[in-house]
Amino acid sequence: MDNERKIKLDELFEAFSVVAEGTYVYLCDMTVDVSRWSKSAVNYFGLPNEYMENAGAIWEDHIHPEDREDYHHSIDMIFSGEDSGHDMQYRARTRDGNYVVCTCRGVVIRDPEGRPHYFAGAIKNHGLKSYIDNVTGLRTLYGFFEDLRAMFWKRDDAVILQIGISGFSNLNDVYGYTFGNRILQQLGRLLQKKFANTGACYRMDGTKMVVVSRTLNSGQVADIYNELKDEVSHDFYVDGEHISLSLNGGLVIVDNFDITDKTVYSCLKFAYSESKNRKMGDLVIFHDMISHDNRKAIEKINVIRNNVSEDCNGFYLCYQPIMHADSESLKGMEALVRWKSDTYGTVPPNQFIPVLEQDSLFPKLGKWILKQAMTDGKKFLEKYPDMIMNVNLSYAQLEKDGFIEEVLELLKETEFPPENLCLEITERCRLLDIEILKDMVNIFRDYGIKIALDDFGTGYASLGILRELPVDTVKIDREYVKDVEKSMADQNTVRFISDLADAFSAEVCVEGVETAEMKDFLKQYKVSSLQGYYYSKPVPLDEFLSMEFVAG
Ligand code: C2E
Ligand code: CA
Ligand code: CA
Repeated sequence: MDNERKIKLDELFEAFSVVAEGTYVYLCDMTVDVSRWSKSAVNYFGLPNEYMENAGAIWEDHIHPEDREDYHHSIDMIFSGEDSGHDMQYRARTRDGNYVVCTCRGVVIRDPEGRPHYFAGAIKNHGLKSYIDNVTGLRTLYGFFEDLRAMFWKRDDAVILQIGISGFSNLNDVYGYTFGNRILQQLGRLLQKKFANTGACYRMDGTKMVVVSRTLNSGQVADIYNELKDEVSHDFYVDGEHISLSLNGGLVIVDNFDITDKTVYSCLKFAYSESKNRKMGDLVIFHDMISHDNRKAIEKINVIRNNVSEDCNGFYLCYQPIMHADSESLKGMEALVRWKSDTYGTVPPNQFIPVLEQDSLFPKLGKWILKQAMTDGKKFLEKYPDMIMNVNLSYAQLEKDGFIEEVLELLKETEFPPENLCLEITERCRLLDIEILKDMVNIFRDYGIKIALDDFGTGYASLGILRELPVDTVKIDREYVKDVEKSMADQNTVRFISDLADAFSAEVCVEGVETAEMKDFLKQYKVSSLQGYYYSKPVPLDEFLSMEFVAG
């Protein structure tokens, strides 16, 4: 290598090392295949020298035999000019002969003629520890994300299954924490056995485990899940003790790579939560609710999710009037979110809210909704000075630190009066600690903000929440009033809920009022407000303002 080239290589290398603090870097002059590597890498992995000719082959010798083929292929593609970089994960042998998990990202830098000139990259050493769960010995959540990204990079198809155990804390209470760990360990082993040679297993947060299979189809994975579920509920022993576990499972088919790992994980968590909360552990495969097309569903969620990051592009609010039951004058309105794009048209909230609620991004959308509703609310107030603006909250928002401050800040910023705001919470908020929830509700009420309990009676914990939380209004779900004029069950439900709410000094709002007959029929109950298509569907702000309601 001539001196000029060496000086250039060193100059670049030095600059590069500064920015890549904490990782090993390498820089290869591809025209002569001479590289310089970080001294720390040379020491740690026992490489011959900081300067190496044909470093690719030397490094390949340090890569775990099982990962070598992928690496070799990738380097070939880079040196032949077909690839312009790589992003991969492999195990590399240290000077003591142990393997550590590394991620390696490299890019080809071309000369002005477009010929490959330098290959520059950074190797991150993840060590052994945090990537391996010390209870089960499985790779961890971090490993899962890294592998997923590598998979996307290679454009491999896969089926991803998440399993988890219901009521595990009870087992911990009964048998103790150590034995609880033994159960997880055993389950991890069983999972690995079931997917030997067909899937990689990971331990996620809590009791959840994930399998990524690139060779099985969703039907085959479902069969194994069912077998596993059956086995651990009837025929599962830990240290001679018979243990019965009830599993839940969610599955996502990944055959589309214009999506991010975060989207996949949100879809997976959503499918899992459906299995756990609604399907008693039956496997739920993530799919589009209308077309049942998995690929399209993930693609759509991915686009919507990306739009949240881009200043909530494409989201807008519709407003549905809420009427006083006695005078049928306008009491207020409920803000209901929509998302629209040229490709997908208008997408209703039940197609994206439940999935995005599983996403760390959700609070951002929630904040946008609150701000938009308050901003629009100012215009509503000009026409209807006493109106109450109802905004739906999700537990994912309440859970976030600083949520109360955020709401108060937004009220100040938009100059929307707190007394005209009503926050709708559902019993899913019960996932939060009840004491924390109670404190939050009390603080909001101290500021004059109203609280409504939405979808009352649709879950298991409604009564519990009503007992614990001082709410202003209970909203009866449409499910219970659809056939109220004919169905005794509906009538009993409405009577029961309205009496119950009355006992807790809460008002009642009935949703889904579609006809005049229904509205008249409901007057016999202790109902204070009505909402439904009979009065109006949810409409955008301008359309709402163009309608004439008698102010309440
Ligand atoms: P929800 O809060 O129970 O909202 C009432 C839903 O019932 C709305 O559906 C509304 O359009 C629909 N509805 C109202 N009156 C009638 C009627 O007379 N007949 C029928 N068939 N339906 C009626 P939408 O707008 O599709 O919203 C669905 C759900 O999505 C909401 O249920 C709520 O859980 C969630 N959601 C909507 N907007 C937001 C939001 O801004 N934030 C959060 N966290 N969730 C939202
Ligand atoms: Ca609502
Ligand atoms: Ca509702």
